[in-house]
Amino acid sequence: MQAVRTTCPYCGVGCGVNATVTGARSVKIAGDRDHPANEGRLCSKGTHLGQTVSLEGRLLHPMIGSEQADWDDALDLVAGRMRACIAEHGPDSVAFYVSGQLLTEDYYAANKLMKGYIGSGNIDTNSRLCMASAVAAHIRAFGEDVVPCSYEDIDTADLIVLVGSNTAWCHPVTWQRIEQARKRRGTKLVVIDPRRTETAERADLHIAVAPDGDVALFNALLAEMLRRGLVDEGFLAERCLVPDGFWADLPDESGIPEDQFAAFADLVAAHPHTVTLFSQGANQSIGGTDKGNAIINLHLAMGRINRPGAGPFSMTGQPNAMGGREVGGLASMLACHLGFEPDELADAEAFWNAPNMCQGPGLKAVDMFRAVHDGRIRFLWIMATNPAASMPDAGIVREALARCPTVVVSDVAADTDTARFAHVRLPALAWGEKDGTVTNSERRISRQRPLFAEPGQARADWEIVCDVAGRMGWGEAFGWRTPADVFREYAAMTQLAADRGKMLDLTSWGACTAHDYETMQPFRWGGAYPLGDGFPTPDGKARLVSVTPPARKVRDPGLPLRLNTGRYRDQWHTMTRTGLSAKLSTHRREPLLEIHGNDAAQFGLKDGALARVTTAWGEAIYRVAITDGQRPGEIFVPMHWTDAMGSNGRTGRLAQPLTDPVSGQPAFKDTPARVAPVSPDWRAFLLTREPAAPDVAYWTRAKVEGGWLTELAGEGAIDLDALVPAGHRSEVADLVRGMRRIVVCDGEGSLMGALYLTRSGELPPRDWIVRQFSQSDANSVELLAGRPAAPQADRGAIVCVCNDVGEQQVLAAVSAGADSVGAVGAATAAGANCGSCRPIIARLIENTLTSAKEAAE
Ligand code: SF4
Repeated sequence: MQAVRTTCPYCGVGCGVNATVTGARSVKIAGDRDHPANEGRLCSKGTHLGQTVSLEGRLLHPMIGSEQADWDDALDLVAGRMRACIAEHGPDSVAFYVSGQLLTEDYYAANKLMKGYIGSGNIDTNSRLCMASAVAAHIRAFGEDVVPCSYEDIDTADLIVLVGSNTAWCHPVTWQRIEQARKRRGTKLVVIDPRRTETAERADLHIAVAPDGDVALFNALLAEMLRRGLVDEGFLAERCLVPDGFWADLPDESGIPEDQFAAFADLVAAHPHTVTLFSQGANQSIGGTDKGNAIINLHLAMGRINRPGAGPFSMTGQPNAMGGREVGGLASMLACHLGFEPDELADAEAFWNAPNMCQGPGLKAVDMFRAVHDGRIRFLWIMATNPAASMPDAGIVREALARCPTVVVSDVAADTDTARFAHVRLPALAWGEKDGTVTNSERRISRQRPLFAEPGQARADWEIVCDVAGRMGWGEAFGWRTPADVFREYAAMTQLAADRGKMLDLTSWGACTAHDYETMQPFRWGGAYPLGDGFPTPDGKARLVSVTPPARKVRDPGLPLRLNTGRYRDQWHTMTRTGLSAKLSTHRREPLLEIHGNDAAQFGLKDGALARVTTAWGEAIYRVAITDGQRPGEIFVPMHWTDAMGSNGRTGRLAQPLTDPVSGQPAFKDTPARVAPVSPDWRAFLLTREPAAPDVAYWTRAKVEGGWLTELAGEGAIDLDALVPAGHRSEVADLVRGMRRIVVCDGEGSLMGALYLTRSGELPPRDWIVRQFSQSDANSVELLAGRPAAPQADRGAIVCVCNDVGEQQVLAAVSAGADSVGAVGAATAAGANCGSCRPIIARLIENTLTSAKEAAE
């Protein structure tokens, strides 16, 4: 079988994947050694892509309400309702909310339809939640949304500063590149993050800055560099515009301990080759754009940009956030890096031969859903995203969706929190079926190529857009036959950007053949240093921007904690795909509330018990994980769980809808909150072959080999018969302790389901029981006991999901003398595949060796 060269659909690293189809819906995955973004590496998510390509949970037919429909009926309905809405309420009553999961061709088609044909700017993307602040910072500083660095700069940097990024979890292959640079050339690492993450633990210096403390810190750092005579006066004079009063206005208060600040300043002073990578911790803030500019200011003022191993480097979260930015998928940009000046609008209108050109920007995500809520938007088409789960103040978003007269959802998944509000659902192609291009964080365009035939009636998103446009009477302008046709038009349109001196110039692809497109090799627009010859501003100079820290908020004493949200290493967004992988689910099977021990004690929370988090916008329940990685007064919860995967762990309902005033990006990282213990009458876990969604106070579900593991808790009586499947049932009960255990096997002795419940005691460990699901001869007696008759060594929590190695196995190897990640790998195979678990292995080694040393002293 020939491997197909394609691209990972998860994060913005944009790793190349060699995918070898091995069956109807199975594929062998390997990293593409020839792809410059990853040079053969893949993280745990990319490695386990093969576990996510089944058709489980897929939407395979158009649906009108709950009825299956054919494409013609569904598309007629969509186009008819859109036409009526425009006729009655005007073009701004229609909106598209799209996604960084779309391919560039999908994005281009949707943007052209909205801005050139419907006549509104109302197309925004979930990338608004992820990196809109970096976009705005680039435009303010450089005149265009250009990332001035590339991954090679990581290889040649002497100092890497990570701001608001748990890179080891969220951009793992970039992290491996950083680790390699540290090993090869001794690159120093500073991590600026309120949390002590696995990334921060590996740093030479971790600065646990207060939430939103970054602007003060970078301003103070710049003032210090000025004092030390390290500002590059020549570069500033020649290449930058500095606003009046900029230096005088630089506040001097860093907000961190003096010794830490001095250590940070010494590192920055000593290493001209500095790359500052920043991500959601910087962007998702009421001052996110200012944070980006504070970082860029430092690099411009020190001349540390446009040369190897130096520059401010925004990491995108999604696989094609950058492609969306290029074509105009953000409501605040027109197309191809053009804005909404009259000449730009006129040129785009002429290029598109647009009958109804929009006249200005549209509504950004949070404002868009507010407009849906108050009835200004009455037709909403959501493509490849799940705003009912992922938007801040998701309660209002749900109300908005429930009120909206027409909600159309194009998606790969049949049941998402958002799909439940759809009047029409349109089946879209998933990764492994799609055909087109994506752009990664370093501006590198790569192909996603199809591996499988289109399943059911699913279609490409761009084709669906064209089908609707055709029914609106605009078929000629949307008459593309292939994704190459769309890409060619987009590439030709970048001439409008190039004519204005912008860096986004794909015009050489404007006449590419189908063969050129098919054989496209990953390439980076703008080259390695796109801003090296001048900045795309009218005078060719970059702008330093005066920025000040956001005003301190008066805190509500009833909400004393600061809630931070973010990603887990092995899950992606709302888990519609990674949630299908048993391997990936082993890393975290439940959403955890991470809290410092002092706060846990103050609020009566116990490690491993349940707790309720309440904000002014909603509440959710999580399993408590006490950690000194959290600063006292701050808590952290993951963003991934939805109503489809649990009853009460949906974080979107907690987050405040405050946004950055420039970028419109929501401030997900700092919502006032309180916590309280949840004391259920009973706790249980349930194993089933099919996904369970029990009607109890708390449940969360995780994929395991052969089925699903659901954790439960609730009040009062529980209807066990409604939970466990039919079959040969064995049961034990201890009425004193309120213990019930039920095991159900089929006629052949295979385990079909099991329930373990307690009212006052402990539940057995899950891993051995879960493994019985993939055995053919389940032993009911052992299963009821919750353990094998012959005791087995406890492997502990799984550390390495690729090779199924537990924490106790790693610790045993360390005790036996393995004192490096490589040595542990040689002894146990942990960390020997994708490498995503290497940071935690390093921590286990360090902790064990430190304890041993202390004991010896
Ligand atoms: Fe995919 Fe992991 Fe690479 Fe991101 S780092 S693109 S998730 S393989």
